[in-house]
Amino acid sequence: MKVKYVDLGKIYQDYKEEIIKKFDEISRQGMFVFSNELESFEKQFASYCGTKYAIGVGNGTDALFLVLKALGIKQGDEVITTPNSFIATAGAIAATGATPVFVDVSEDYNINPELIESAITEKTKAIMPVHLTGRLADMDSINKIAKKHNLFVIEDAAQAIGASLNNKKAGSFGDAGCFSLHPLKNLYVHGDGGVITTNSTELYEKLLKLRNHGLKNRDECEFFGYNSRLGAINAAIASIKLSGLDTLNNKKRQIALKYIKSLKSYVKTPSERENEKQVYQVFVISTEKRNELQKFLIENEIETKIHYPIPIHLQEAASHLGYKEGDFPAAEKQSKQILSLPIHPHLKDEEVDFVILKIKEFFNK
Ligand SMILES: *Cc1c(COP(=O)(O)O)cnc(C)c1O
Repeated sequence: MKVKYVDLGKIYQDYKEEIIKKFDEISRQGMFVFSNELESFEKQFASYCGTKYAIGVGNGTDALFLVLKALGIKQGDEVITTPNSFIATAGAIAATGATPVFVDVSEDYNINPELIESAITEKTKAIMPVHLTGRLADMDSINKIAKKHNLFVIEDAAQAIGASLNNKKAGSFGDAGCFSLHPLKNLYVHGDGGVITTNSTELYEKLLKLRNHGLKNRDECEFFGYNSRLGAINAAIASIKLSGLDTLNNKKRQIALKYIKSLKSYVKTPSERENEKQVYQVFVISTEKRNELQKFLIENEIETKIHYPIPIHLQEAASHLGYKEGDFPAAEKQSKQILSLPIHPHLKDEEVDFVILKIKEFFNK
C-alpha cells in the first residue's frame, strides 16, 4: 500500500462542478481582479473568523508584510517571533527592514510566552506568534505581555484557519491575523492567495489602499503602495471551499485523534487544552529515532515530511542576525525529532491503520 502525504487531485473532485461553474461565469463577465466575488469572500471569511474585516491579498507572506507596513514597522524596529516556523514569518519582518528577534518555543511547538519579556527592548514594536501545525499559540499570555509593553500582536495564522479556543478563532486574537491560501494549507486556492483579518477600521482602510498601489480611487494615489490582490477566480474558489472547511477539518481531526490514541505510547503526540480545537494543518509526532523512523516509513511507501528541519535562526539568510547553534535549545531539539504524518481528508481508514501498524512495527522491532 502506498500512502501519499497529500492528495490535492481528490479534493478537487469534491468541488469540481461548483468550481467549473464559477470559472465559466467569471470568465464570461471578465471581472478578474476586483469583483463581487472578492467582496463576498471577504465578508464570509471575516464572519467565519469572527472579525469585523477581512482583506484578500496575493499570498500569506504578503499578508504578514502588508500588516507590518500598515502598522508603520520599519528599519530600526524589532519584531519578536519564533525560530520554528516556515521561513516566511521572519522573511516578512526582514522585508520591512525591521529585525526579527527570536524567542524559543514550548512543548507545543509554539512561542514560549515565559521567554518573551526578556527579549523586549525599546526597539520592539510587535510580537508575531505563529499558530504552528494548526494549534493556537498561548494568545492570552501573549496579549497580556503586548498590552503591558504597548506592542502590536500580529498572528501568523497561515496554518490555523478554523483553529479555536473557547470558540474564539485564529485571526481574532491580535491586532491582525494573516492567512495563506497556498495549496498546502487547509483552505486553499488554485495558486497563491492570502487573507488578513482585523477588527480595526483604521488598519482595514490602510490595507485596502496598501494592497492596491496606495490608490484611494481610480486616479488618485495617497501613498506609494504595492500590488497584492486576491483574484476573482481564486476568491470564488476560496468561497466555495470555506463553506466545506469545517467538514474537511473534522475529517482531519478524526484521523488525528486516531493517531494520538494508537501512537501515544510510542512517540510524543499532540495534546489539546480544554475547549481547544486544533485543525491539524500538519500532524506532528516527535521521537529521538526520527531519521530511522522516516527511512523505515519510506521503505514501506509511507510519505512523511519535516516541518521544519532547520530552525530559522540557523538558516544562511539569518546569519547577519548573529544567532548560533544552542541559542534556542527547544526549537533545535524539536527540529531533530519531529515528523509530520500523512493527514489529508481523503486518507482512507485502511491507510491510517497501515501507518499506525508500520510505526508500531518499527518500535517493536
Ligand atoms: C505557508 C506559510 C506562510 C506563507 O504563506 P504563503 O501563502 O506561502 O506566502 C507563512 N507562515 C506560515 C507559518 C506558513 O505555514
